[in-house]
Amino acid sequence: SGGVHFRGIMRRYGGTGRPALDVADLHLPHRSFTVIVGPSGCGKSTALRVITGLETPDEGRLTINGVDVTATPPGARGVSMVFQDFALYPHLTVEQNIAFSLRLEAKHNRGRLGLLRRGAGGAGPSRGEISRRVTEACVLLGLADLRHRRPGQLSGGERQRVGLARAIVRRPSVLLLDEPLSALDAQLRQQARAELVRLHRELGNTVVLVTHDQLEALSMGTHLVVMNGGRVAQAGTPEQVYRRP
Ligand code: ADP
Ligand code: ADP
Repeated sequence: SGGVHFRGIMRRYGGTGRPALDVADLHLPHRSFTVIVGPSGCGKSTALRVITGLETPDEGRLTINGVDVTATPPGARGVSMVFQDFALYPHLTVEQNIAFSLRLEAKHNRGRLGLLRRGAGGAGPSRGEISRRVTEACVLLGLADLRHRRPGQLSGGERQRVGLARAIVRRPSVLLLDEPLSALDAQLRQQARAELVRLHRELGNTVVLVTHDQLEALSMGTHLVVMNGGRVAQAGTPEQVYRRP
């Protein structure tokens, strides 16, 4: 089955007390725009970090597009994450920021796969391929004219688009967004929502967005997951979730 599947996932920080995340069975459908919504501290970020592999669950298994990735390192899951503050490198230009993750991937793959499958395409993207993909991502996010600027010369909305470009340039099968609109002012937020929905349509991948804002969840998600106290309270399409008593 495609998408992201949590099976008996448990994460308990410090080994005692109430689990930060306790998810028996949750499926985020392939190519869905799933919004995980719930109050601060309910386990949303922990759920995202479990998908990226930045967090290892104490129990359970995670599958992505039918593959068990529980033991797969973060860079090798086909997952990219956009962080709340976009985490751009201030000394690099827009173009260099976007290319950076691809260069790392190429380097990582040469080291890791060189011995295993020499010449089998394991070298990661070539220079030309990196340049093509960076251009493509810049065009998709309207950054073509800003390629040579540094983050300090960009507005909040522009920085967010660089963060997105940097994530999608890797062509992740799963794109994770952690409160991606929280650093934007209210005026920009509406526009940014529409852009995320458009981007999801154009990429055709699985998007998982985390927010504490119910309105945001309703306006963007094809699927919703409502969390509370580390558990899934409800999951389904917006219609299914909001029809229930
Ligand atoms: P959310 O993203 O919904 O705000 P989190 O996943 O960040 O929730 O946190 C879930 C729970 O786990 C909270 O009670 C939080 O205090 C706790 N927690 C999160 N990260 C850590 C950590 N690194 N160490 C200890 N406790 C943590
Ligand atoms: P293409 O063959 O179109 O150039 P890629 O080789 O970039 O596509 O990716 C092939 C598949 O691997 C896609 O499904 C993509 O989502 C996935 N993928 C992309 N980046 C990674 C990665 N770093 N690790 C694992 N899978 C990835």
